[in-house]
Amino acid sequence: MTVMPKCAYCNSENHTVETCEECKIGYDTFKRFTKRYLYVFLTLMIVPVFVLCVSMIFVDVLICMGLMLAIMGATLAVFPFCTPETFDALGVLGTIKLARILGTVIVVCGLLIVCASVFGIILLIVALVVITIVSIFSINLVKKKHIN
Ligand SMILES: [Zn+2]
Repeated sequence: MTVMPKCAYCNSENHTVETCEECKIGYDTFKRFTKRYLYVFLTLMIVPVFVLCVSMIFVDVLICMGLMLAIMGATLAVFPFCTPETFDALGVLGTIKLARILGTVIVVCGLLIVCASVFGIILLIVALVVITIVSIFSINLVKKKHIN
């Protein structure tokens, strides 16, 4: 049995062309977006790691690690550029959704680490509650965006 080609955008089965008719505009827009921001994405992924690795000499290691995670997570959520394999498996829409959820989780983890090392465990619990509310709110935003 041969594998049916799928729409590169919405990932639905579609047998002749790269994307379905209604996905073409979205797919082209995303391709342009990728081209335009690829280097911004790479810079945001690489520069903070260098900067924060150096700052570990002066600042608490956990704070640096937490900030690093938060910046990387936020970058991934804003610029959902995953591997070609991910795009093949999930399509553009699925990959964006995955990157947003993953990015949000990474940001939350990073902020938790920062909070734990700055405020200690009691205030961390307060921060945890706030972050939970914020992340539920942002996940709902992502969901809403993808329904439309
Ligand atoms: Zn499609």
